[in-house]
Amino acid sequence: MNEIHQSSQFVKDYQTWTGIGKRTESPGSAKRKHNMIEIWEALQIIRDNHPSPMVAKLPLLDALGKRLAVDILAPEPSPRYTNSAMDGFAVRWEDVGPVAGGVPITLVIAGESQAGIPFSCKCQSGQAIRISTGAMLPKGTDTVVRVEDTRTEDDRVTVMQVRKKGQDIRRAGEEFNVGELLLPQGTALQAPQLGLLTSVGITEVAVYDPPQVSLVVTGTELAAPGESVAPHQIRDSNSIMLTAAVRQAGGKVVARHYTGDTLADTVASIRKSTNKSGVIIVTGGVSVGEHDHVKEAVRECGFVELFWRVKQKPGKPLFFARKDDCLLFGLPGNPVSGFMCFMYYIQPLLRSMQGRNFSWRTAKARFDNSVRNSGGRTNFMRIGVKKEESGFIIAEVLAKQGSHMLGSIARADGFIIMEPGKFIPEGSWHEVYLFPWRN
Ligand code: AMP
Ligand code: MG
Repeated sequence: MNEIHQSSQFVKDYQTWTGIGKRTESPGSAKRKHNMIEIWEALQIIRDNHPSPMVAKLPLLDALGKRLAVDILAPEPSPRYTNSAMDGFAVRWEDVGPVAGGVPITLVIAGESQAGIPFSCKCQSGQAIRISTGAMLPKGTDTVVRVEDTRTEDDRVTVMQVRKKGQDIRRAGEEFNVGELLLPQGTALQAPQLGLLTSVGITEVAVYDPPQVSLVVTGTELAAPGESVAPHQIRDSNSIMLTAAVRQAGGKVVARHYTGDTLADTVASIRKSTNKSGVIIVTGGVSVGEHDHVKEAVRECGFVELFWRVKQKPGKPLFFARKDDCLLFGLPGNPVSGFMCFMYYIQPLLRSMQGRNFSWRTAKARFDNSVRNSGGRTNFMRIGVKKEESGFIIAEVLAKQGSHMLGSIARADGFIIMEPGKFIPEGSWHEVYLFPWRN
């Protein structure tokens, strides 16, 4: 068990990564019957292998948009010194108190405390010190009178109006004191947070580094994006789609390797992608065909297989392995299958590795046509949703859900999770999962 398991952050992620979470069947029996695991088991195994997050200490501007990996405690109080909130005169309340009773008082201007140039002596009885906003309150004074409430003539100032002792002063520590929690771990650093950190003298912070992801794209039939495509070839759409999806989850694709369907090529690509800590996503070659070499190649590279095949549709051949802190996912090559697997299993992990919580946005939607899963696997069915004028959400299962039909994902607003045998009668309500980019 690595340390992240014990952190409260992880416990939170664990709870919000709810997924299906309904254990309606014993995992053991499912495994024996189908030689496949259930989707909740797959999620559980992934969570159990959550790698230690990568943390980097970065200058503030480089940390923009990232999340704090530690609590930040105030290293100094704010304000650091007691100062004036107004342009005016610093005075002693014992001198100006009677002004509150309607009697103006005239004092001698004995000096100035400017922002950046404090008054070096002590203010004596009968004296006032000219002061500007933010300037240090001179010794001997306890009150500031705004310039609007005074009249000056030569080296004298007449105080016309006061409210109370201590007025218009910002006291040292009144916002926070040394050791107070300024920003908790997990805070997203935007402009205001960078401003706050700078104001207390912090110039660099420990933030979660984006998980580094390598893509290994297998398939002798593939033509890379932009290349000419022969009649027998397939355009590689997975690499662009998954790179974009990794970025949307806050990760960084650091390498992309194309590999033909041979064991030697696949081993070489996986070796090149393996680093100490990170995520490798392999697409294609993970099924049971003659030319599917990913599982063997992964073993040859020293990874331990954690699961292969999930009782789901699409995405049955999903494969998961680990070598130290490097995780490897084998996604089916079919673009819809691979994408759904990424969305359901990998993107929450990538977010969690950056200290972010993830929970699916769900809604209760009405289905005007009945839906049935008569197959033996949990089915992720892509849906479209629309809002009625009444505010109710209406959902429909999209046509053409084939795992090679990308249009069904491009049009989808989300999906439903249909367990085997599940039936949604016409006109009834069911929970829908919405893709994060849908509002
Ligand atoms: P596989 O999982 O390797 O058996 O591939 C299943 C199907 O997905 C085949 O029709 C492949 O041609 C297709 N496929 C594999 N990789 C990609 C990819 N990178 N982009 C688009 N289609 C792919
Ligand atoms: Mg293939």
